[in-house]
Amino acid sequence: MNKKKQLIIAGPCSISSKKELNETIKNIYSEIDFFRCGIWKARTNANHFKGIGNKGLKWLSEIEEKYRTPVAIEVGTPKHVEQALYHDLKVFWIGARTTVNPFYVQEICESIKGTDVEIWVKNPIHPDINLWIGAIERLKNTGIKKIKAIHRGFFCMKEKKYRNSPKWNLIKVIKETFPELNLICDPSHISGDKKLIYSISKKAISLNFDGLMIETHANPENALSDAKQQINCNEFKELMRKI
Ligand code: PEP
Ligand code: MN
Repeated sequence: MNKKKQLIIAGPCSISSKKELNETIKNIYSEIDFFRCGIWKARTNANHFKGIGNKGLKWLSEIEEKYRTPVAIEVGTPKHVEQALYHDLKVFWIGARTTVNPFYVQEICESIKGTDVEIWVKNPIHPDINLWIGAIERLKNTGIKKIKAIHRGFFCMKEKKYRNSPKWNLIKVIKETFPELNLICDPSHISGDKKLIYSISKKAISLNFDGLMIETHANPENALSDAKQQINCNEFKELMRKI
């Protein structure tokens, strides 16, 4: 197994209270490079929890300072970017549902132009590698220097085992096209099931990924999004010991 130090990104899919946020970060901050937390959730079902919204931004900038750990959020619109920048948040990711649309990606690029933000690009929902490459190119053309690519698997009608099929061969193309970028694996959205997180993490490490994004929540059973695929803080620490 490859022994290089993995970049570790962890945190909840979303939070429904400040208490949930605090309980999660205080237990994992010492073992992570970045804390992730969705504030605005792009839900498939119109009636599902849409995230805590703007009021979470202040909580996130407080914990960033308190725990001296950079916090990353998903942005899907220029308005999200504007509000996040206002709260001094500087690490964003573009979700799979946004990477699919060059108009959205271009608008986000325009909203971060001239700033020193870090931005991560998740693969698009369907396995169109050029769409993913195109989104990364747009950010590079905008002058953004800190970019990472995140493999979160692809939608596939025939897939039985995973929520989103990993496509390890396609990932090689990203590595070859952008050798300078960190390539991160997101076993949580690939698996859709916390039981598979360890095996997917191990696979990613063996394939020379640079890091892992693991959805971790203080109380996954009560999480309002992605409950089945999130691990709790003790499970996260156990995973870190094992990999
Ligand atoms: C997430 O990271 O919580 C998320 C919604 O991811 P994706 O865009 O990969 O579905
Ligand atoms: Mn999620």
